[in-house]
Amino acid sequence: MLRCPNCRVQNPGTSCCRRCGMELVALQNIETKAKNLVLCALTLLLQENPRNLDYARHFLLQACKLQQDSLSTILLEFINTRLAVVTTELS
Ligand SMILES: [Zn+2]
Repeated sequence: MLRCPNCRVQNPGTSCCRRCGMELVALQNIETKAKNLVLCALTLLLQENPRNLDYARHFLLQACKLQQDSLSTILLEFINTRLAVVTTELS
């Protein structure tokens, strides 16, 4: 966590914000879950199997529900482009 969501101090700490005392563990757990979902999506994409695109997209959409970031957004755009190409190739 780069900033405390409450007081915006940089590098707020690990369990509680060093400035305002806000509990951070639950939020850090959500960040970790989102990162793990993005890693699952990346693992599937690296296998270069078109059948994995839908699964990777599912993981990224779940990650975005927890935490939106630029990597997830870019990967979703990539998958949507690939899905359009695969759909065109199959028709
Ligand atoms: Zn704070």
